[in-house]
Amino acid sequence: MEKLKPASEILDDAPVFDRVTLELLRWAADYYHHPIGEVFAAALPASLRAGGATRTATEIWELASAGRQELINPSDRRAPQQRALLAWLAEAGPSTAAELRVRFTPAQLRAAAARAWIAPATETHADGAAPAFTAEPSEVDLTTAQATAVAGIAASLGRYAAHLLYGVTGSGKTEVYLRTIARAIADGGQALVLVPEIGLTPQLVARFERRFRSGVAVLHSGLAGVQRRDAWRAAHNGEARIVIGTRSAVFASLPRLALIVVDEEHDASYKQQEGFRYSARDLAVLRAQRANVPVVLGSATPSLETLANVDQGRYSQLSLPQRPGVARAPTMRLVDLKRHACEQGLSQPALQAIEKHLVAGGQVIIFLNRRGYAPTLFCNQCGWVAPCEHCDARMTLHRRAERLRCHHCGAQREVPIVCGNCRHPLLAVGQGTERVEESLVRMFPDAPLARLDRDTVGARGGAAAVLERVHGGEARILVGTQMLTKGHDFPQVSLVVILEADQGLFASDYRATERLAQTIIQVAGRAGRDARAGEVLIQTAFPEHPLLGRLVTDGYSAFAAGALTERREANWPPYSRLALLRAEAKDTDRVDEFLRVAAGLGAAADVTVRGPAPALMARRADYFRAHLLVEAGGRAALQRFLSRWLPQIEALGAPPGLRWSIDVDPLEVD
Ligand code: ADP
Ligand code: ZN
Ligand code: ZN
Repeated sequence: MEKLKPASEILDDAPVFDRVTLELLRWAADYYHHPIGEVFAAALPASLRAGGATRTATEIWELASAGRQELINPSDRRAPQQRALLAWLAEAGPSTAAELRVRFTPAQLRAAAARAWIAPATETHADGAAPAFTAEPSEVDLTTAQATAVAGIAASLGRYAAHLLYGVTGSGKTEVYLRTIARAIADGGQALVLVPEIGLTPQLVARFERRFRSGVAVLHSGLAGVQRRDAWRAAHNGEARIVIGTRSAVFASLPRLALIVVDEEHDASYKQQEGFRYSARDLAVLRAQRANVPVVLGSATPSLETLANVDQGRYSQLSLPQRPGVARAPTMRLVDLKRHACEQGLSQPALQAIEKHLVAGGQVIIFLNRRGYAPTLFCNQCGWVAPCEHCDARMTLHRRAERLRCHHCGAQREVPIVCGNCRHPLLAVGQGTERVEESLVRMFPDAPLARLDRDTVGARGGAAAVLERVHGGEARILVGTQMLTKGHDFPQVSLVVILEADQGLFASDYRATERLAQTIIQVAGRAGRDARAGEVLIQTAFPEHPLLGRLVTDGYSAFAAGALTERREANWPPYSRLALLRAEAKDTDRVDEFLRVAAGLGAAADVTVRGPAPALMARRADYFRAHLLVEAGGRAALQRFLSRWLPQIEALGAPPGLRWSIDVDPLEVD
């Protein structure tokens, strides 16, 4: 009895999570073998974690009798906006302040309240039935393929079903989401829409807001504390009918969840790569199962796991094989760098194509997945390259900032002018986006250029400004990194040039080729979204590589079928299950010793523990890194093993200065 303490305050009169969300969190803590406290913390906005109440009284206004009188018999003819407000309330009935603010200003609300024409409604629909909800009409007629997809998903409303919406880039997947969501929430439900990165897709959010007005809440980690809390509450009390969010929104409390959409389901950002290492895509499917609602996974380049799930009959596939209207899939061509001379990383065929498309009035995208000016600062006298002192890596030259930066640990220093060894002048070798920008500005001085990478969009909202310059047509050339792949819809882009397709062709990670194929198809998909025919040039020193050939001539499905066969033969996921035990310390022997002991603890007939093996970058930020790879035939075997093994490792206790973590279903075996 002594242990019981009196409660000092009751913060919430109802549970913070609905039942399904709570189960999901418990399940995730078990599955990913992560402390439940941290799992809860990941799911809640900071202000609620700190003890804020989950509920605010929703501000609802209704027409008072004086207002009704005023409508019939106007006393003040100079207030048309006021009368419009009264007419709106007479028509719509009690409305939330959020709904009203879409049409009326706060000052108009205050003025009407001051005249007692409108009054706060006592009723709250926080836990009762939500009001019916209608979407604005769509501007387009569905294609047959879209209509079939909408019908297929709608037919599964009210029960669990997983659908892969496999639609080529620009095929109108978003329109399918909008229509199915309208159906799903028409009689009171809520929809959850997960997207990879909100900052990079302002268009998508705008489209949802246009269609659904005030019912949309946006939830992501870039929001300020209060905004995030308010969005979370709006989801929790049912005021938000559609929640659009990044990864952690999969844990949003949605008491009337009716449909989940995961857009660009192949995107790596759904997997949290540190701390609580969960996959929001996988949890979305699980959540749909628990909540008994359908889930739609959309992509032009589905992950191999998802395609395997279709093959095995667990997911159904809905296809959008073509772009609607006049837009056609772009033509793709490989440019052999062994046969064509390059000027600053740009081949002759690429330069000619850029010229041609600019003259024809199109916009051009240049993709290079490496920011900075040059990846190497090199002495051609003695072979010295500027290294990072804390990592097994070179430092990247950032010319405008006049710094050398390590992209792995963030270290930076001044740019040396001469070689650290022999005092010879140094050369900047290789291309980064900053250098490509410099070259293009020189070669095409009349074409305004925009650059999209982490250096140009550092600040919040920075990406939106760059994207706006492209949308508005002001920028004619767009140079960028991986950020370019995220679903942008630029109607005037007619040419895409991929500068170095080779990164990833020979990488050691078993997923590298899948990622490369997805990147190429996604970047290529930015071309030819409108009437202009799209053209894609892929520069490579290995045009004979079978992956590139198959991808370019036969498309992503053919590539994926081949890649799945390879995975099956090599017994890699999705045909097996992996977990990675990572350890790091400043002392390399300590890491090795710890992992050896841990490996020695593990023994099970149906599980193999491999390693220790050093990470691809064995030293990063002064820490030596290595891992053990756990391989099992299936989920159940892996979980059985981890549940026994991890407590044993915990009981060992980590030596001082050593950090270790477990990653279930790792994205990279590194
Ligand atoms: P995705 O999400 O597959 O990349 P979007 O939904 O963004 O594709 O659609 C690409 C473009 O095609 C958008 O400009 C959209 O308005 C347009 N679109 C979508 N569906 C139709 C349709 N049925 N008819 C005409 N245009 C459409
Ligand atoms: Zn030198
Ligand atoms: Zn470094």
